[in-house]
Amino acid sequence: MALIVQKYGGTSVGTAERIMAVAERVKRWRDQGNQVVVVVSAMSGETNRLIKLAQQIQQCPEPRELDVLMSTGEQVTIALLSMALQAQGCPARSYTGAQVHILTDSAHNKARIRDIDAARVRADLDAGRVVVVAGFQGIDAQGDITTLGRGGSDTSAVAIAAALKADECQIYTDVDGVYTTDPRVEPKARRLTRVTFEEMLEMASLGSKVLQIRAVEFAGKYKVPLRVLSSFEDGEGTLITFEENIVEDAQISGIAFSRDEAKLTVLGVPDEPGVAYQILGAIADANIEVDMIVQNIAAQEETTDFTFTVHRNEYDHAMEILKKTANTLGARQVLGDPKIVKISLVGVGMRSHAGIASRMFESLAKEGINIRMISTSEIKISVVVDEKYLELGVRTLHDAFGLEQAAAA
Ligand code: ADP
Ligand code: ASP
Ligand code: MG
Repeated sequence: MALIVQKYGGTSVGTAERIMAVAERVKRWRDQGNQVVVVVSAMSGETNRLIKLAQQIQQCPEPRELDVLMSTGEQVTIALLSMALQAQGCPARSYTGAQVHILTDSAHNKARIRDIDAARVRADLDAGRVVVVAGFQGIDAQGDITTLGRGGSDTSAVAIAAALKADECQIYTDVDGVYTTDPRVEPKARRLTRVTFEEMLEMASLGSKVLQIRAVEFAGKYKVPLRVLSSFEDGEGTLITFEENIVEDAQISGIAFSRDEAKLTVLGVPDEPGVAYQILGAIADANIEVDMIVQNIAAQEETTDFTFTVHRNEYDHAMEILKKTANTLGARQVLGDPKIVKISLVGVGMRSHAGIASRMFESLAKEGINIRMISTSEIKISVVVDEKYLELGVRTLHDAFGLEQAAAA
């Protein structure tokens, strides 16, 4: 008998029919003798609908109130799925995050899970029930409802799997696994049967929304066996493995991209100690996360230019702060561009292969795509390009690195 945690995302529970189909799948696993905990998201579009509703009342609602509102989406699904299971003769019980003590910090809208009391879930499993838990939500030490950031049900599932020491955490979604890139952008993308945990972490952090980054981090920390599969068809999906180099010849495993980028530049700041700190310190104090940073070397003059990227949602706020700092520093000009995207090549095989970056730059150049910023780490190379080149850039690189063919084993 195995203990399995299954998570079903928004599209997988988008209608009453879909919920009945999920119940059938869950029941099948239970009838095979497994103990099953199910974590669900809100029905597709529901979280967005709730956010829009809030914005009709107040442009920037208080994060605490937004959490009270957004958490209702998942509460609807747990009740419906429990009913669907019971209707099919499968004993089941639904729980909100608070009821199973998913304790988080108090960072509303982006809370982190601190602890889960698994006793209640275990008692139900031992009594032969399927346990249905609301994803995305928790409760802080004061008893306030919190949510875990968009896509956070993945993290709920992995955290519950870790707390229960589950045999596997299965993430059911609307694609049948992790692909070489988002199949909606490159239809020739290929499903990976396995991807290393390290690569998955990079892909998630670089914008692949198939798994929330914190879910991958959690899986790494607690060594939770994780699999991504389709709720629409049967198949083995993609296993996130903790083995090191799984396919020796594959230099690149995938291409991630993020449309949520914006770039800010300050021209003519003094080239002296403390300037980077002054510029970025003010941004950090406003709780804005900075991604890429480029500082030019000063030429003859004693001034330099400084560019960094932030999440597009925070562009206006960051710009306001940067203008103030630029004034204080006596900088020449502040420029910004909120219409940029980041495309990244990811692969553990990159470590042992030279020339990946030049091949990347060459293929983008051939298509006339101008690279605005570059950043690298041991297993990834990212470029910032204009938004209009996203699709072309991804497809060009997918082709240039032969990703549609199965890698030689
Ligand atoms: P869910 O609602 O089930 O959580 P998401 O929309 O969050 O589903 O994640 C699934 C989506 O992730 C897919 O529909 C796909 O468009 C997108 N995606 C992005 N990158 C990848 C990738 N490398 N492999 C598979 N899917 C990806
Ligand atoms: N319903 C939440 C969202 O749309 C959480 C999730 O789907 O994982 O972001
Ligand atoms: Mg998701």
